Amino acid sequence: MRIDLHCHSTASDGTEPPAEVVRRAADAGLDVLALTDHDTVAGYAEAHAALPEGLTLALGCELSTLSGGIPVHVLGYLFDPDEPVFANERETLRTDRTRRAHAIVDKLQELGAPVDRDRVFELAGGGAVGRPHLARALVEAGVVPDVSGAFTEEWIADGGRAYVEKHALDAVAAVEMIRAAGGVAVFAHPGAAKRGKVVGDDVIEAMAAVGLLALEVDHPDHDEPTRARLRDLAGAHGLLVTGSSDDHGSLTGHRLGANTTDQGVWEAIVSAATGSRPDAR
Ligand code: AMP
Ligand code: FE
Ligand code: FE
Ligand code: ZN
Repeated sequence: MRIDLHCHSTASDGTEPPAEVVRRAADAGLDVLALTDHDTVAGYAEAHAALPEGLTLALGCELSTLSGGIPVHVLGYLFDPDEPVFANERETLRTDRTRRAHAIVDKLQELGAPVDRDRVFELAGGGAVGRPHLARALVEAGVVPDVSGAFTEEWIADGGRAYVEKHALDAVAAVEMIRAAGGVAVFAHPGAAKRGKVVGDDVIEAMAAVGLLALEVDHPDHDEPTRARLRDLAGAHGLLVTGSSDDHGSLTGHRLGANTTDQGVWEAIVSAATGSRPDAR
């Protein structure tokens, strides 16, 4: 079985609608796909309605949390989307993304970058707005040559001149909230140093203590030594290991299925979840 447990659609910062994402997943030969948009499950219904024969879909989302000021991304799977505490938190996160996008546009304009506010929200298309939409607007305005040129100190990288923080849960609290909604929590790309600082093993231990199930070891942003180190770390804390593409459509180069999760781990995720079941046609 080919199982990819992390990707994004236009419901957040992916470039393709959910129906197109599941079509590409089938083309990539996947048997299981989890749709994990940032702070939302809004793409799930469309993905489900468009599910190709033979593809199983899992509900999910990705939360950008903090631990001692260091970013920790947490994936939640197969939670109950209607459980009120977590549903309200996702709504708060999305609302704050909108405030923050306006604040970043303000800063960019103060810095002399002619970024078009309406264009940013048009690119977000009503979904959870994020820095990739701002980055694309900066490219269109001719300020930077490409999206990665926007993720620099000069512009919107963490701590950059036009960076603005957004509301974030503590990493341990996020794991607890996902678990309380019947879901399974996985630490996304825990070794992606190019995205900034990486938390210490003590944080992984604290997350494991409240029910973290796995580390996303096989991820395109992890080199081989990093994967080996994380595999050892997972073993030391009794955690499982997942693999996924973190596909964002054309934003990061189409790559569904570039990394995959073992069937036994997928089965452990399904058994541990009580909030929702995977769906197939
Ligand atoms: P936000 O959630 O709004 O803070 O934006 C973070 C998102 O930006 C991540 O989920 C990635 O999709 C994307 N991102 C982060 N760093 C880069 C980069 N260097 N190049 C392209 N996209 C990036
Ligand atoms: Fe993203
Ligand atoms: Fe992430
Ligand atoms: Zn992601």
